[in-house]
This record gives sequence, structure tokens and C-alpha cells, in this order.
Amino acid sequence: MPIAPPRRISKTRKRKRRTHYKIEVPGMTLCPNCGEMKLSHNVCRVCGHYDGKLVIDKTEKTEEQPQVEEKPKKKRRKKVEDSEDN
Ligand SMILES: [Zn+2]
Repeated sequence: MPIAPPRRISKTRKRKRRTHYKIEVPGMTLCPNCGEMKLSHNVCRVCGHYDGKLVIDKTEKTEEQPQVEEKPKKKRRKKVEDSEDN
């Protein structure tokens, strides 16, 4: 059986606890190769360089991705009110 909390947490206490919940900005730096913003300690996603070396050759990946055809939107029929007689 799950143990119930011994006491209800008040609004104030809950809200005070949640003041520490916040989004952190990830550590971003400028790529020394291409100058784009990149995550620090990560390979640059634009040019594929890390520590001045080419790690991922971005020029190889030029495969065309098959485009998904857009399906025509289904026409929504309005429900016929056939339950008029009550
Ligand atoms: Zn780069």
C-alpha cells in the first residue's frame, strides 16, 4: 500500500519549492570554424567540426529525403440531427 503524505503541503510551501524550477540556458559557444552557435563540448551541427578537426563530413549527406505527400483533408460531415423526436 502506498503511504500517504503525513501532512498536506500548503499552497505557499508548494509555490516556494517551485520557485527553483526553471529552464536553464544550454552552454552555447561560437563555432571557431563556421561561426555558428553550437553547444559547447559538442560537434558543430552545421559544419561537423570539433576541436578544429572535421569529425562529421556534412558535404556527404546530401541525400534527398522522400517528401511525404500531403493527404487531402477529410471533409467533416456535420452530424445530421436525426434525433429530433424526443
Ligand atoms: Zn561549425
